[in-house]
Amino acid sequence: YLPTIYGITPTYSRLAQKADLTRLSQTLMHVKNFHWVVIEDSTEKTKLVANLLKESNLKYTHLNIKTHRTKHSTVMDINICLFKTSLYNTSWYCPYWRTNKGKKLLASGVEQRNLALDWLKGYLQKAEDTRGVVYFMDDDNTYSLKVFDEMRKVKNVGVWPVGIVGGMRVEMPLVTDGKVSGYNAWWKPFRPFPIDMAGFAINATLFLEHPEAKFSRKVQSGFQESEILKYFATKDDLEPLADNCTKVYVWHTRTQKPSILNPKKLKRPPVPDDH
Ligand code: UDP
Ligand code: MN
Repeated sequence: YLPTIYGITPTYSRLAQKADLTRLSQTLMHVKNFHWVVIEDSTEKTKLVANLLKESNLKYTHLNIKTHRTKHSTVMDINICLFKTSLYNTSWYCPYWRTNKGKKLLASGVEQRNLALDWLKGYLQKAEDTRGVVYFMDDDNTYSLKVFDEMRKVKNVGVWPVGIVGGMRVEMPLVTDGKVSGYNAWWKPFRPFPIDMAGFAINATLFLEHPEAKFSRKVQSGFQESEILKYFATKDDLEPLADNCTKVYVWHTRTQKPSILNPKKLKRPPVPDDH
């Protein structure tokens, strides 16, 4: 028996989107009993994502919701935005809540992951078999097939190391006598759970028992993981996986923003769009 893995992936339109989603979908083709929930950060579903999902032969659910950039931003977000803007000496206006260096000021994926959780609860209520595990998967990370084997062992909440994140080669829970005794995190080590989104999975049935569990815009950056985990576990309950958190099976890789020359300015034949 293999519990279903519900992989929840927010995604947004950008030059490397199709490349990132192609790599991820082709990893997922090797994973048994996998249900991919892809949520576009957009007002409409795009053809690019719809076609990619259809051609993948994966079991999937395609959703969309646009990030509410101003309405749900907190006073803190706005203050940080204004502070960083003055720091980087850009105009006072913060388009898309990013600095001129492209650094994010607003957490990504909050509305998208919450929509996926609402979908999941509705789906499981009607399902015959509610067993499964929820994994929040960013679209540009790198996933070993071994991480999926690990998360099927989850009873409530399982955790494991994540490579290349938070200024470290590996951010990981520290394990003593088979229990999480602390963390090696360097970035915001005061986080209640200093764990990246890619470093844990949660028993899907628990979302029916805690329907209020969701991500929030009211917390500072880096606290989304803690926000969702607090509904399901304390440090003492965490189940260390990946050989007592000694193995790295997922990496927080980030795709470099490509710079493309304007084809109108180059006297060259036009190139087709990548979709
Ligand atoms: N994302 C999104 N809308 C955005 C920015 C990001 O839906 O405006 C998605 C993105 O596709 C990814 C997840 O949210 O699946 C995390 O974003 P990103 O990879 O940019 O975060 P980082 O790697 O910087 O932590
Ligand atoms: Mn990323």
